[in-house]
Amino acid sequence: MAGVDYPRTHQQLVAWFSTEADCLAYLARLRWPGGFVCPGCGSDRAWRTARRGMWMCSGCGRQTSVTAGTIFHRSHTPLTTWFAAIWFVCASKNGVSASTLQQVLGFGSYETAWAWMHKLRRAMVRPERELLAGVVELDETMVGGRAKKASSVVITKVPVMVAVETPGGRKIGRIRLARADARNSNQLVDFAHRVIAPGAHIRTDGARNLRQLGEQGFTHEYRVLISSVEPAHEYLPGVHLVASLLKRWVAGTLHHGISKRQLDYYLDEFTFRFNRRSSRSRGLLFYRLLQQAVATDPHPLTSLIGGTENSV
Ligand SMILES: [Zn+2]
Repeated sequence: MAGVDYPRTHQQLVAWFSTEADCLAYLARLRWPGGFVCPGCGSDRAWRTARRGMWMCSGCGRQTSVTAGTIFHRSHTPLTTWFAAIWFVCASKNGVSASTLQQVLGFGSYETAWAWMHKLRRAMVRPERELLAGVVELDETMVGGRAKKASSVVITKVPVMVAVETPGGRKIGRIRLARADARNSNQLVDFAHRVIAPGAHIRTDGARNLRQLGEQGFTHEYRVLISSVEPAHEYLPGVHLVASLLKRWVAGTLHHGISKRQLDYYLDEFTFRFNRRSSRSRGLLFYRLLQQAVATDPHPLTSLIGGTENSV
């Protein structure tokens, strides 16, 4: 509830989270909604130690950190700054670039801001996401190819798999996106199994390899399109709309080239924002993202770019 579970306004954010202790107490509440439970012995009795964010189990003496295993783990940056960054990212309707984040929060380096953005994007994917259901449109689209800088990491066009719930009329439900290695491969079938509930009604174009979906627990409806006669977007309007929004967002948000692997994180951010597009409260987005952040593995910069160890 706004104003109770999460701040309603920026003023409230600043008032609630003025100290490190405020942030730690909030993260503890999100991480252990039913109260602290020791991962060692299961005891629910613990006391706070003098060290930052540590809980000491009174049953077995094990110490547990509220930020261990989360994106905040081993961060030297104050949590109040993290909270400000998360609020800022959620408050902007279309997302922020690393350079904007750097300016607003006064980070010393672009690299730091960039790594933060990627940690946050990682947190945007809920590990236990529900499967899409009902009528689902499924297709591929080509994304990218408009990078401005000549650099080794600039991508050209990359196939992205798109699944869109279309509950009827012009309505669009939730979406899922994933990068494919090649066009028209069986990856699209694997993707369907990964993100769509068994028994769903899947609508696709007439690609031959997709016809197996009908024998694999889905209702499969397809149409062989003669492109000059019938544009594909009339048969799959949901996919068409999502694909064009995605392309516009990618072109508008990313001013630096991205690698294929990085594209995965951007797809996660787009999905997070799109699936919560009707959420009026920015505070609720903030709450959900923090909730997911405390359930996310830490990702040192090394694992993001495959470079040298660099604590952020
Ligand atoms: Zn214990």
